[in-house]
Amino acid sequence: MNTDLERLIELEKVDREVTRLTEEVAALPKRVAAIEEKLAEHKAAVEKAKAQIKNNEASRRQLEADIKGFQEKIIKYRSQSSSVKTNDEYRALMHEVSFAEQQISGCEDKILELMISLENDEKSLKRAEAELKTESADVEKEKAEARVRTAEDEKLLATLREKRGGLRTGVNDSALAHYDRVMRQRKSAISEARDQKCMACFVMIRPQTWQEIRTNEQIVTCSSCGRILYFDPAHEAPPEPPKKKAKARSSEAQPEAEQEPAPETTPTA
Ligand SMILES: [Zn+2]
Repeated sequence: MNTDLERLIELEKVDREVTRLTEEVAALPKRVAAIEEKLAEHKAAVEKAKAQIKNNEASRRQLEADIKGFQEKIIKYRSQSSSVKTNDEYRALMHEVSFAEQQISGCEDKILELMISLENDEKSLKRAEAELKTESADVEKEKAEARVRTAEDEKLLATLREKRGGLRTGVNDSALAHYDRVMRQRKSAISEARDQKCMACFVMIRPQTWQEIRTNEQIVTCSSCGRILYFDPAHEAPPEPPKKKAKARSSEAQPEAEQEPAPETTPTA
């Protein structure tokens, strides 16, 4: 086989692997970022539950302070009631006492409501914290895996790039330039030629070119897609069964030919 052709076939394999690994390395941080985003949602849920509990406790403390205030007022009104001069004054004070008592009762109702919602908030917090814990462990595992995979890929890439450099220096400049151009445009630059067709674009190859390709001794490009073509004898169609030499002009030719299997029609362009 032509050494340039051989190297270009190898170079394409290396280039494809380099592309695959480079894409993988680029995709890994995105995957980690997606996982971390999910983790941030769980963290936010925990923070929200904690804030709700804090609010609940602050509201309760406020209500308890309010109750204390009303209780102090009641004590004050009761002590004033012993020194009032008129019934009207006394009634007014008792009215204030009753109002303060109603307020206390209202505060106590609210405290009860808060205690019930605190139970729910604490349940939410526990659930969110458990989810965060599971998720955090998963994230650490995934991140560690991504780190290992990236390191492996980078190592492999370094080896492949070195191999790539070696292969490229060995190839004729114009063949390499053609390879690079097609590679850039089509993401593949080499194609097998089989059954007189380019296996990348499936366009028929002219018989003379086909004969050239079959030798694998020249750089031949597909007239349609531009890819560099090679021939793999292992993929050649099995030869037709051997025929007896047809005695074309003999009278026996006809019956003999009928016994033979019909010859496969091979495309001729
Ligand atoms: Zn082609």
